[in-house]
Amino acid sequence: MRIGIYGGTFDPIHRGHMAAAKAAAQRLALERLLLIPAGVPPHKALSNASAEGMHRLEMTRLAADRLDLSIPVDVLDIELRREGKSYTCETLRTLHEQFPGDELWLLMGTDMFLTLHQWRCPEEILSLARVCAFGRSTEDVKELFPKQKQYLEETYGATVVAMELNPPVEVSSTEIRAALSEGKRPVELDESIYGYILRFGLYGTNKDLKHLSWEDLRACSYSMIRAKRIPHVRGCEEEAVRLAGIWGVDPDLARAAAILHDCTKYWTMEEHKALCETYGIVLDDLEQSAVKLLHSKTGACIAYAVFGMPDSVCRAIYWHTTGKADMTTLEKILYIADYMEPNRNFSGVERLRALVYTDLDAACLLGLEMSIEDLERRGNPVHQNTREARDFLRKEQNNGC
Ligand code: ATP
Repeated sequence: MRIGIYGGTFDPIHRGHMAAAKAAAQRLALERLLLIPAGVPPHKALSNASAEGMHRLEMTRLAADRLDLSIPVDVLDIELRREGKSYTCETLRTLHEQFPGDELWLLMGTDMFLTLHQWRCPEEILSLARVCAFGRSTEDVKELFPKQKQYLEETYGATVVAMELNPPVEVSSTEIRAALSEGKRPVELDESIYGYILRFGLYGTNKDLKHLSWEDLRACSYSMIRAKRIPHVRGCEEEAVRLAGIWGVDPDLARAAAILHDCTKYWTMEEHKALCETYGIVLDDLEQSAVKLLHSKTGACIAYAVFGMPDSVCRAIYWHTTGKADMTTLEKILYIADYMEPNRNFSGVERLRALVYTDLDAACLLGLEMSIEDLERRGNPVHQNTREARDFLRKEQNNGC
């Protein structure tokens, strides 16, 4: 198997790193990619404004998920866990033991490639791995690489592939950190990674999370979920705002609720239970074991406690999964927008779409009925609140009879 190994301080990881990793994976036809944030980089001092290792690890995980590669991309904390400087030769020894017989490729940019012979144990490094060097600017590969490639090949018998990035992303983490500390949002930073930085106030960003712009709120929310869920959250926002306009609800409330509604979707059962306990949310028997039912509750808590959302928004998030009897218009809007936003594609969704702009209650009732039928067909339990929501709307539709 061909395995790419891409290490760096990743402080923070940016589009330059991501473009390089992606291009190298394609060029070398890698079958697996390992991203390894350094603990203590041997080649340079960490900046004063540096983020802690665990944050750099988390941001690298976000980047790995957003690379959109068809091969497994793993983020390893082996260098962060190791004491002392993060020497590549030690990392390679470990990986060589873990992947005996596999072809290891070290990926690196210009600055690292040109100094490779000065690293600790270059002969060992170059016997354990091949090198893929990419230019950080257009001139690098043509002007700076040939001499170093020849030197490494002749001196150490290295295998070196030099690669141009088309186009290179000419940015460094140092520049990104400087821009962030001035309150700017660097375009070379992935939206979710920017959101992560805002949430933890890294690199001198000091935004009040309770008064964020829509752009920043989206970035924060997306930093909490997997890349594949983002189109759904965007679609839900678009639909909720459209419905708010039609049904006389403040579109800002609908937008906020939709942006945040799935922010805890990927939490573990333990994380959900811990937060529910903190907020005194008592879980019934079904909720105790159905992790899918809990993100609405914990999402509401986060919307309130972290992002300072008003009660109406938090309640809409709280009820968006099961629904409940006698929902407010905002609650109905989030429930149904989540169910039929433009990315949803299931049999019957067109019926919902035809109904929701003329009769919101009828659309919610149909959505609840479809959802109950689907759960029952699959043999899954149906939460009592969902049945009560359906029964309430049925009664209303029959003028209370
Ligand atoms: P800093 O500015 O903090 O020194 P950096 O931007 O150089 O950081 P590192 O995390 O030190 O980033 O880099 C890790 C690896 O990624 C190195 O091999 C480096 O050459 C490469 N690299 C960094 N930035 C780019 C970029 N814009 N394009 C291509 N490769 C890059």
